Amino acid sequence: MAPLSWRHHTLIQAVLSRGPLKENEFQSIFSDVTGKTIDSHKQLFNDYLRKINMELSYVQFELRACRNQYDGSVYYGVINTVADEQSKLGTKYTIPQIAFYKGVIEAIVHDTTAQGTISNIEALNIRLENQSSSSEIPPALRNFTMSQKEKAIHEFIQDQWLCATSDGNIGLGARSFLDLRSWFHNNEVPHCDVCNEAAIKADLCPNENCSVRIHKYCLKAKFSLRRNEKVCPGCGTQWPYVVTKAEAVEEEETEDHQQPAEPLRRKKSRGSKQVQDDASNEPSSRRLKRSGNNENEGVASQSQSQPSTQSSRKAKLEKLAAGEVDNAGPGPSTRRATRTSARLHR
Ligand SMILES: [Zn+2]
Ligand SMILES: [Zn+2]
Repeated sequence: MAPLSWRHHTLIQAVLSRGPLKENEFQSIFSDVTGKTIDSHKQLFNDYLRKINMELSYVQFELRACRNQYDGSVYYGVINTVADEQSKLGTKYTIPQIAFYKGVIEAIVHDTTAQGTISNIEALNIRLENQSSSSEIPPALRNFTMSQKEKAIHEFIQDQWLCATSDGNIGLGARSFLDLRSWFHNNEVPHCDVCNEAAIKADLCPNENCSVRIHKYCLKAKFSLRRNEKVCPGCGTQWPYVVTKAEAVEEEETEDHQQPAEPLRRKKSRGSKQVQDDASNEPSSRRLKRSGNNENEGVASQSQSQPSTQSSRKAKLEKLAAGEVDNAGPGPSTRRATRTSARLHR
């Protein structure tokens, strides 16, 4: 395969240096460097993504897309695919900060009301001691003060590992949605019945005995198809969802609503396939449930002001490698230790 052009490099650098980018920003960068619009050059766009990912895979990075579940917007970002924690966590955060981040994530994903948020107070009250796997609590964790926690929350929000939600709470940031996908799947975080991705922020089936959760944007895509009954795909209970006129669609032209980037879809495993099925209302989600994670969603983007030389690319990669926090999910053996002991850590 031909080497990457400066256009690819520009895209990569934009995502690396500016962190997760919103879909429209990423696409406009693509348009700027290629002179082509996405609408009329979808194939070209996908080819770019594929090519970039082939190169990035050599250094264990991946360009991916994911949805911000609070508002349904799509983001593109580069993640580090190295599984081991050390190489991911790097030097940007201290050990207690990382432990704290993990505690916050645990609390958010296990919110049984599926709001996907916790309050500031709840966050500050998270005990880092629970994040230590040995019986001896390292002093650094024990002595992590409230003000240090506050500062850490602030930094995580800045860096998009967490976000401040519109209702004044703390939720997952775009980076966490991008980076933790495998962790969500491996840790039994409840998934969306439509797209099979983790349902951190989702609507719950009105039937208390049913555990079905569906993202708001997935509900919209599903129920806007006129022929779809507004019922829970699991238990058949009426789902209180009002389809606005604008949303109503006769047939399934909505298939793209559900999934971020098309390029990503392609290489994927069942999760994505399922998304497509669901768009046409196949009740197939259960079958495919939890079958694997769609590791390959990524895509990348770029930034106007970035230099595009090789060396700066390398520098950026190194910086990224150093700064990146994690997928740092727990190892397989600790996977179940969630709700009660709440640990993400090994
Ligand atoms: Zn969904
Ligand atoms: Zn149900």
